[in-house]
Amino acid sequence: MDKRCISSYTLEQLTAEVKALGQPAFRAKQIFHWLHQKLVTEFSAMTDQPKALLARLEEQYRIAAPEIERRQQAKDGTVKYLLRMADGNCIETVLMRYHYGNTVCVSTQVGCRMGCRFCASTQAGRVRDLTAGEIAAQIYTAQRDTGERVSHIVLMGIGEPLDNFDNVMDFLSIISSPDGVNIGMRNISLSTCGVVPMIDKLAEKKLQLTLSVSLHAPNNEIRSEMMPVNNAYPVEVLIPAVRRYQDVTGRRVSFEYSMVRGVNDSDACAHQLAKLIRGMGAHVNLIPINPVDGSPYSATDAENVRRFQKKLEDLGVNATVRRRLGSEISAACGQLRREEMQQNQL
Ligand code: SAH
Repeated sequence: MDKRCISSYTLEQLTAEVKALGQPAFRAKQIFHWLHQKLVTEFSAMTDQPKALLARLEEQYRIAAPEIERRQQAKDGTVKYLLRMADGNCIETVLMRYHYGNTVCVSTQVGCRMGCRFCASTQAGRVRDLTAGEIAAQIYTAQRDTGERVSHIVLMGIGEPLDNFDNVMDFLSIISSPDGVNIGMRNISLSTCGVVPMIDKLAEKKLQLTLSVSLHAPNNEIRSEMMPVNNAYPVEVLIPAVRRYQDVTGRRVSFEYSMVRGVNDSDACAHQLAKLIRGMGAHVNLIPINPVDGSPYSATDAENVRRFQKKLEDLGVNATVRRRLGSEISAACGQLRREEMQQNQL
């Protein structure tokens, strides 16, 4: 019953696993190709493997192959999937079409325990971490479903990636492997609410991915109100960690700033924000908050978002307003899963 997830092994780990079965190392590479390049979901599809080996694999392992429970497509081409894992839990995956290629937004946990007040993913807490294979399978599912290649990944779905550190590291190794779908680290963004010790741990890996920090407020008063994680790692601890990250990796960080009417969108906030991050060369992504049920927040209107952006630019901070893809299909973090959970309770 308790089969191990074969999709979660890095090539190195799979090689050790296959050797332990008394098989030559090249078999590991072949199996890895089947799983992560040809994207098969059944062992029986691995036609170049000896029958006896396939039988043993079947007995001991499972392939991560979530089912598409719901699929919604927006007019702009954005597709949102509600995927059901083998254990019955649901997560969300979004495919967005940009001029530079298809981007998939993956979930890293079932639920989340970070408690951000504006976010639907965290309202029912964290259920469990996703395995590396379950994270990768989201991309493969979108790729199989659309028949289109995925070139970019953002770890911005349900969950806090740095709260599932080891599995996320294995996922990154699998997904960027030339023996897999080979998505380059420079095409990957990892978003965190600001778990400082893990930012330092990530820096040590010196990956070429883009780290995105969900800042959302320029001071502790507002940030702690929006994001409980700020009580553990306040702004004066977070920002130096981001600076260290930039120094160690040589990569510029970007900041997410979700704009909430009357909370974090004043001119004074723009000034404080500029002062806080000026000189870092960091980029700020502004996005009007997507209001979720049960949250006290409403979105800053488009005009004020642009005003805030201009203010930041005038103060020497690079800022863009994020295009809102798929807003008519509950594409904000955790909304679809939440709907599904509520329906099941009826
Ligand atoms: N846990 C990670 C990644 C997942 S959330 C993080 O916190 O960064 C991805 C981004 O969406 C974060 O910046 C998060 O703060 C933001 N977000 C979540 N819910 C939102 C909402 N309803 N409206 C706008 N942004 C939201």
